Amino acid sequence: MSEIPSPSPDAPPVVHAHDERVLLSELRNTVAAMSRRGGERGTGGADRSYGGGVESSGPKEAGPAACAGPAPSAGPAPSTGPVQGLYGPADLAGLDARIAGCRACPRLVAWREEVAVTKRAAFADQTYWGRPVPGFGPADASLLVVGLAPAAHGGNRTGRMFTGDRSGDVLYAALHDVGLASQGTSVSADDGLELYGVRVTSPVHCAPPANKPTPQERDTCRPWLVRELELLRPTLRAAVVLGAFGWQAALPAFAEAGWTVPRPRPTFAHGARVTLGRRPEPERTDADADTGTRTSTEASTNTGTDSDPVSAYPPEPASASASASVELFGCFHVSQRNTFTGRLTPEMLREVLSAAAESAGLTPRSPRG
Ligand code: SF4
Repeated sequence: MSEIPSPSPDAPPVVHAHDERVLLSELRNTVAAMSRRGGERGTGGADRSYGGGVESSGPKEAGPAACAGPAPSAGPAPSTGPVQGLYGPADLAGLDARIAGCRACPRLVAWREEVAVTKRAAFADQTYWGRPVPGFGPADASLLVVGLAPAAHGGNRTGRMFTGDRSGDVLYAALHDVGLASQGTSVSADDGLELYGVRVTSPVHCAPPANKPTPQERDTCRPWLVRELELLRPTLRAAVVLGAFGWQAALPAFAEAGWTVPRPRPTFAHGARVTLGRRPEPERTDADADTGTRTSTEASTNTGTDSDPVSAYPPEPASASASASVELFGCFHVSQRNTFTGRLTPEMLREVLSAAAESAGLTPRSPRG
């Protein structure tokens, strides 16, 4: 059995009863259900016994919520170090669960949890996720959409990327229009939305104040994106990067994950298109395979101090193509500032998504005008 790292040094012991891959899904659904119950009760106001998807007064050993640790407080966040648990998960679901327990950025931990307690008035009766928001979409995605960071009252509330805010409304409507999503709305983690061949992620997994992570926070979070790219490597063929921040964060992550990035680094532009070639896989000796030793490339991406057994590092799938390149597409971010002003129109977004889907080997519908 695996476990989700406790979100706080003061957390009660983590429950071991669930596999972490199942756990994150259960936890998200629990938050969504609690939010609905809160709405039905009409409790109103900021309830400090809630937050981060955990009802602190509830039983601690009974279900997935208990595994998540205590409700976050609005107090100062403890100073923590680099990301941990990077190489424990052998698949994306496991990685997502580890991300959800990360506390590596003190400022962002404090902010996401403060927002989860104080809440926006319109969502005052809902239980906020209040944690890092992992990527969303199938583990064998061939197209990746890279944003910036979760919104304080969107992903940080619902626990799913681009869910519950205006930016997500625009993004998922466009994905649905081109046939890459089961529905055009994304309101909660249990709303039934499915993505077809597409995964949505961000280079920073915690909601930042004013939607502006610092360069240090971006760099601290990068190992999660690098690992996500490594795990997607067997199937990934294209990526749409939303905005200049995501572009600047994604290029070094792709480079660390084994793709070649042109020098000088290509600059961001809407409609930019860059091919990232695939570097040959580092050779792994029999001794490495026996002991689980990481290669220098692998080790360089692990800035954490995790003590996970290195034998958990997944073998390269036989289906992986060492020569597969990734086509990178630049697109203005789906922020309200861009969509309200018409800098990014639904048609522009659909065109980029459609081109990227074709490049990824998916079969998008013709974008509607
Ligand atoms: S932004 Fe990333 S590295 Fe920082 S606390 Fe959140 S998940 Fe961890």
